[in-house]
Amino acid sequence: MEFETYSSPLQKLVLDRKPLSYSEEEIRNVRLRRDIAVLYAQVFADEPWNEKTRCVSCGAFSSEQGVCSACGTRLVPAYPMKDMMEYFRSELGKDNSVLAYAAEENDLPIAFAWGFPLSVEQFVDMKYKTESMRNALRSLLIPVVGDSFFYFSECGVRPDQRKKGLASILTNQMLNSAQSYGLPMVMRTNDRSPMVKIAQRVGMDKLPYDDLENLQRVIFTRT
Ligand SMILES: [Zn+2]
Repeated sequence: MEFETYSSPLQKLVLDRKPLSYSEEEIRNVRLRRDIAVLYAQVFADEPWNEKTRCVSCGAFSSEQGVCSACGTRLVPAYPMKDMMEYFRSELGKDNSVLAYAAEENDLPIAFAWGFPLSVEQFVDMKYKTESMRNALRSLLIPVVGDSFFYFSECGVRPDQRKKGLASILTNQMLNSAQSYGLPMVMRTNDRSPMVKIAQRVGMDKLPYDDLENLQRVIFTRT
């Protein structure tokens, strides 16, 4: 598998930097995040996303190697380990974030989900570029969820472990987390994502919404 090559250099890097002061818990967390980073790249390289590479210039994802078909610039791995570790640090470092994952007997994660409480203001600021879409989202979301919610950020299942209900189990974990915080849940995804079916299965409602920044986007809420 091509993604396995990321794992050993990174682990070495982490352990080399601070060889004596890492607690077992910290090492476990770093390993877990590294394993989830590998899994993340594996999940999104597969159907229906096929995000194997990304253009360094225009940012478009591709399933090809070599150069970008849109702008001719070099393609690099879509989700390199270094970027993913940064992303996890930012996402899982948020206040009261929740990570749920399923693992094999050897502790290797095969499915992941995470989320965190977010205000509508933080959400529109983080996720939308234009003031008109930010305003549209404010007036759509606030009457449904109020000022804040639990944002179900990401979920993925290793391709060979699909169709076993893992994503539904993890989605229900996220709903339980939202409930334990006394918050509604919001999920934003793409209309071709398998998460659409799961959102419907767990009783989430589709927000009536046209995203002018990306027409394939859909939002589900559960109050
Ligand atoms: Zn390009």
